[in-house]
Amino acid sequence: MPPDLRPGLAGLPPEAVAAWFAERGHPSFRARQLNDALWAGGATSAASIRTLPTTVRAEIDATFSLDTVADTEIRLGDGNLTEKALHRLADGALIESVLMHYPARRTADGQQRERHTVCISSQAGCAVGCPFCATGELGFGRDLTTAEIVDQVRAAARRLRTHARRLTNVVFMGMGEPLLNLDRVLEAVSALSDPGRFGLGARHITVSTSGVVPGIRRLTALGPQFTLAVSLHAARDPLRDVLVPLNRRWPVAEVVAAARDHARVTGRRISYEVTLIDGVNDTEADGDALAGLLRGDLCHVNLIPMNPVAHTPWTASPMERIERIAARLRRDGLAVTIRRNRGQEVGAACGQLAAERAGEPAAPVVARRRELLVMRSAAALGGERLTEPPEAGLAAALAANRDRTPAVGPVVATVD
Ligand code: SAH
Ligand code: SF4
Repeated sequence: MPPDLRPGLAGLPPEAVAAWFAERGHPSFRARQLNDALWAGGATSAASIRTLPTTVRAEIDATFSLDTVADTEIRLGDGNLTEKALHRLADGALIESVLMHYPARRTADGQQRERHTVCISSQAGCAVGCPFCATGELGFGRDLTTAEIVDQVRAAARRLRTHARRLTNVVFMGMGEPLLNLDRVLEAVSALSDPGRFGLGARHITVSTSGVVPGIRRLTALGPQFTLAVSLHAARDPLRDVLVPLNRRWPVAEVVAAARDHARVTGRRISYEVTLIDGVNDTEADGDALAGLLRGDLCHVNLIPMNPVAHTPWTASPMERIERIAARLRRDGLAVTIRRNRGQEVGAACGQLAAERAGEPAAPVVARRRELLVMRSAAALGGERLTEPPEAGLAAALAANRDRTPAVGPVVATVD
């Protein structure tokens, strides 16, 4: 079958859809009917929209795709509490999203309502190349379009609707670095938070970055209402150089300074992510360094045991060490949550299913990778910084983004 080259409708601003109808001489209420069917009705094909005349449906069908993630495979895990979706896009690129269900539960300060969170991808693959991440190992494929980002959320919402449930949260923590595809991510957030479109409050959306400082600064200027998460993983440069290769471009102090400004300007706390790896970044010295770096900041720290992925020499930190780091941070007044892993048996660390499909690399390549990681992390633990420049793929991705720094962009809708 030839690839579907039609643009995704869910990525277009309503004015563009209205203009398209006007150009064809259709009355403006037709645009509204299509808008309602797409967003409130969750339509995935023009043919299914009964409110529109057949000729108009055919015109729409010839021009737009109403579901850019139509080819989706679902795997259930965690007693059906985790639904991992592998989406094959029109050009064959594979991306993942994960829908996680959290039943209602009693907490110390009352009752927490049930939540349904979808974790979505912003790129196919990722250029940053964090060595504990399955997506990082895949390398960069391409940026997703706005519709491809939004359609992952629409697909999850439709699945929930069949069980009379509603989506409550969206997190950009799947494949890719959202701040290296920031224009599309902002358009997607606008569509998701616009009351006339998907209509999820921006405060229920989290965008996670590995530390693209100009991107954080651009967001700060826009003053969005969504939560910014920063993947820290280490407070010391030598170790962070290894765990998040972007650190060699923007070191940890610059990342935290930008995040701190963001919290000050927006009044919203930063959510720091720390993936804990046995014997690598979970020592007492790491706890002290983290506490020293973040003490007094408007932030929340999430400690996450590393999800096992193929081709790394590493495993998750034992829970007692994670709890010790949590206690260390709390002693300095920091708010900390230990996040339990979800869906390990379905490969819930994003990128794992796509990596599986990409096929197994040759044994010597895997062996070399492990050896390099052991060597680099050992050197980092001894305080040595990496001297090699970032990998070619990462350098290219940064160069491509270098000039995209307009301070004024689309204003992100703020509803709640
Ligand atoms: N690129 C962005 C967003 C996607 S990754 C970022 O790095 O922030 C989302 C989160 O998943 C990050 O905090 C990342 O560090 C974490 N992650 C990736 N692989 C993981 C693994 N194997 N175990 C636990 N967390 C992982
Ligand atoms: Fe990219 Fe995030 Fe994975 Fe690092 S952790 S490789 S930034 S997706």
